[in-house]
Amino acid sequence: MFAEKIINWYLEYGRQLPWRCTDNPYYIWLSEIILQQTRIEQGRSYYERFVSEYPTVGHLANASEEQVLKSWQGLGYYSRARNLHSAAKYISTELQGRFPDTYEGILALKGVGRYTAAAIASFAYGMPYPVIDGNVYRLVARLYRIGTPIGTDRAYAIFEKRLMGLIDRERPGLFNQAMMDFGSMYCRPVRSDCVNCIFSQECLAYRGGVVSELPVRVGPTSVKVRYFYYFDIRWDAPLPTIVVQQRGEGDIWQGLYELPLYETEQPISEVVLLGELRKVVERWMGAVPQSIALKRCMTHRLTHRTIRAQFVQVIFDHKPPKMPEKMRPLELSEIKTIPISRLIDRYLSEL
Ligand code: SF4
Repeated sequence: MFAEKIINWYLEYGRQLPWRCTDNPYYIWLSEIILQQTRIEQGRSYYERFVSEYPTVGHLANASEEQVLKSWQGLGYYSRARNLHSAAKYISTELQGRFPDTYEGILALKGVGRYTAAAIASFAYGMPYPVIDGNVYRLVARLYRIGTPIGTDRAYAIFEKRLMGLIDRERPGLFNQAMMDFGSMYCRPVRSDCVNCIFSQECLAYRGGVVSELPVRVGPTSVKVRYFYYFDIRWDAPLPTIVVQQRGEGDIWQGLYELPLYETEQPISEVVLLGELRKVVERWMGAVPQSIALKRCMTHRLTHRTIRAQFVQVIFDHKPPKMPEKMRPLELSEIKTIPISRLIDRYLSEL
């Protein structure tokens, strides 16, 4: 029987991970949100940090958003942290601190989709909901030679139906973990280990010689390029100071701090670049800087965006007479205490 075979494999060879040793739904939820779009090796240290800093959902709910973003710093996709925090507050106030214990209740949490709800329901409560992540899609598409493009609602329904017929209803959590591990360890995107695979006899893709053609994906979405000009504005007296601003709602990195930003639709020509940036900073600060110089150029890739960032360092000999309302001076030594985007962190570290 398929389920028994893959669970037996998992019990012998599956990965030992800290969130697999608990049935606490809060810890499982933390791990699942952290692991979305994150490698296990990187996610592990963040999971341990969150469990230690916020041992219960109440601790997470009572923290400030800035504190949670700071704990999340470096992991990217910051909406995950904001949703986590918002859902913790919802559980704390609306559900009297009790984590929801139905699939629908879990799915109602902000930032929780079908995959995460199925993972929490099966791992924490033993409910027979199949998890369908990239590894599971790949494994099932190949085993049954399913050519429906993944990433669509139609594909989800087809794969879910197939998995409902396979899942071990007594041990759904083990079954789901086994599927994900087997998909990532044997049935890999490239160079699958079909020769040693325990399903090589029944795998339709292997028998048909079409392993590398499955799963089928929908066409790539276009990636938009944005042009960011960041001003690293500083002065030394009376204390080393840098200017920062907080990102607003409705855009990437909401709530994080960054350097003062000038964004353009098109890249500024190199011939006029420094002159134009000088005018911008003089207009903002109401003074002529002591020096202005182009620094690092960096490319930062997000899922549907590529950021081309040019950093320009601006030195004043003392605090300038004015600055736009959203900017604020910060003692340089305090920069480590505020949540900043990975791009800004990279720039400051490289300096
Ligand atoms: S035989 Fe190859 S393609 Fe088929 S399930 Fe095993 S590893 Fe995946």
